[in-house]
Amino acid sequence: MSYNIAIDGPAGAGKSTIARRAAAALSFIYVDTGAMYRAMGLYFLNHGIDPADTAAIEAAVQDVDVSIRYENGEQQVYLNGENVTGQIRREEVGDMASRTSVNGKVREKLVQLQQQLAARENVVMDGRDIGTCVLPDATVKIYLTASVEERARRRYLELKEKGQEESLEKIQEDIRDRDHRDMTREISPLRQAEDAVLVDASHMTIEEVTAAVLEAFEERRK
Ligand code: C5P
Repeated sequence: MSYNIAIDGPAGAGKSTIARRAAAALSFIYVDTGAMYRAMGLYFLNHGIDPADTAAIEAAVQDVDVSIRYENGEQQVYLNGENVTGQIRREEVGDMASRTSVNGKVREKLVQLQQQLAARENVVMDGRDIGTCVLPDATVKIYLTASVEERARRRYLELKEKGQEESLEKIQEDIRDRDHRDMTREISPLRQAEDAVLVDASHMTIEEVTAAVLEAFEERRK
C-alpha cells in the first residue's frame, strides 16, 4: 500500500511550496490538484464557456482529458494532449477554476484521476478536499492555513517580484472571495477534516512548516 499525505487549506497558505518540499524530502510524488482544476478552467476559457452555464460546463467536461506526467520530477499538466503547465498560472485561469470547481461533474472527473494516482504512488497531494473527500484514509492529513492579511501580503510580494503591481486591498478582497466560494460550495467544501493536524503558518517559516508536516507524517505512519 502507498503512503499518502493530504494537505488542504485556503488559497495562498503556502500549500504547494510545503507539499513540494515534503515530497522531495521523502522522495514522494507531489500532486498539485489545483493545477487539474486550472487545466479544466483553461479549456472553458478557451472555448468561451460561461462558468454560470451549468449545462454547457457539464457537456464540455466530457470533451476534456486532463492528465499528469512527471518530467525531471516536476508535475506537467496536459489538456487534451497539450502541455498547459505554463498557461494555467494566469489569474483569469485561477478565477475560472474557482468558479467551475463548484460543479459536481467537474469534481467527479478530477477526483477519480487523483484517487488513481494516490493508489499507485506515494504522494503528497494538496488541494481543498483531499483529506475530506479524495483520500479519506490518507496516512496523515494536514490543514494548512494563515491569516488573510498574511496570505495577501505574500501574494502582493510575489506579484511585485514579477513586476505586477496590485493593491493590497484588492488582493485581500480576492482572497476573501475565493475563501468564501471554496468554503460554502455545496459539494466538497473546504474544511478541516476531523482527523487533520492544524498548522497555522501565519508566523512560521517555510522550514518550520515543512518540519511540522514531516513530523506529523512520522508520527502517524507508525
Ligand atoms: O490551488 P489553486 O489556486 O491552484 O486552485 C485553483 C482552484 O481550484 C481553487 O480556487 C479551488 O476552487 C479549486 N480547487 C478545488 N479542489 C481542489 C483543488 C483546487 O476545488 N482539490
